Amino acid sequence: MSGVIELANRPRAAAPAARRERRPVDREAARGAVAQLLIALGADLEEEGLRETPRRVAAALEDMLRPEPFEPTTFENGEGYDELVVVRDIPFHSLCMHHLLPFTGVAHVGYLPGERIIGISKLARVVDLFARDLQVQERLTTQVADWLQENLSPKGVGVLMEAEHSCMSLRGVQKVGARTVTSALHGLIRDDPRTRQEFLTLTTGSRDVHL
Ligand code: ZN
Repeated sequence: MSGVIELANRPRAAAPAARRERRPVDREAARGAVAQLLIALGADLEEEGLRETPRRVAAALEDMLRPEPFEPTTFENGEGYDELVVVRDIPFHSLCMHHLLPFTGVAHVGYLPGERIIGISKLARVVDLFARDLQVQERLTTQVADWLQENLSPKGVGVLMEAEHSCMSLRGVQKVGARTVTSALHGLIRDDPRTRQEFLTLTTGSRDVHL
């Protein structure tokens, strides 16, 4: 059996706000660098449609690289809920650190509660926290799983991510629609075959996925 739970308890303790330590964006320098890149690519910045492009590109990149800070409040697992909590199909986008091109997809995040639980919506915020960065999908998957492990100390954690990389679909091998699947499993979701299978069934539906 599985499902999600309603959080009736008030927060008992708050973990430190989840933030990434990053240097602030130097907007002026970013705009200048985009202008230089466009010129180097042969563009004419005097052209009407391109005049504001350096500013727009710098702003778009900044937006893609800045997660919303959030308070990752956890709650005491007062009811002793001991079934898997899984949120499927959390949409995310990230920026490939090798090509600066986006990769987009869905994350399936689950955990087997121990002493503490976390609001369901926060699972999506954790994905966003690490996705809005220069990333590779493998590291992103691991970071989400490690964050949950550290902040919840659950009995198990499972993170499965499926994404299409535009650096793969628009250039290079040009395989549109190819999806990369990565996973990071900890604790009982990794080690207990029944729990692992339940997690995979819940996250991948009827598809036959063996990890
Ligand atoms: Zn890439």
